[in-house]
Amino acid sequence: MHTDSIPKIKIDNAEYQRSDELRTLTLPPGTELREIAANLKAVMKTDDRKQVQAASASLITAMAKAFMVAPPPLKVLNARPLKVTENYATETFGDYDFESTAIRLWMRTAVQKKTTSYGTYLSTLCHEFCHHLDVVALELPHTYHTRGFYERAAILYHHVQDTPVRTIVWTPHRNGTFSVDWARTMRR
Ligand SMILES: [Zn+2]
Repeated sequence: MHTDSIPKIKIDNAEYQRSDELRTLTLPPGTELREIAANLKAVMKTDDRKQVQAASASLITAMAKAFMVAPPPLKVLNARPLKVTENYATETFGDYDFESTAIRLWMRTAVQKKTTSYGTYLSTLCHEFCHHLDVVALELPHTYHTRGFYERAAILYHHVQDTPVRTIVWTPHRNGTFSVDWARTMRR
């Protein structure tokens, strides 16, 4: 995980800084979300896109209700698209469209077409939902990937999983961005 490059335009830069500094998320009660997430976990074992779509939509709808925002339209797709450059190939796990506020999630790996692990899938779902929260509730219309954004997404993920939040250790880069130091983060 790497933060987005720092915007040069003043107003965008101010939004970026606000997002970066916002390291918490006011959480709703977790019981109902955890029940719905447990159902999603079970459904993922069926390997059936339609069932995963329905279970994911239930979770997204419950999250939207809990955070008192309009639910984003959701589409669950099969194999992840592969973006190939000269040196490497990256898979898209999910995305969020600022204008339509729609979330897309891919449930299968790009090459082997295997169903994604539940943890990875849920983490992507929480990540995309946090983009939605930024845009519709937190007045962060560009929903930049800042340290604050990644930490908010992690707080939501661990809340749904009912697992302790790890303190993320960030490595600073010379251009002002940060990346996660996974080794030190996991050791904490
Ligand atoms: Zn993102």
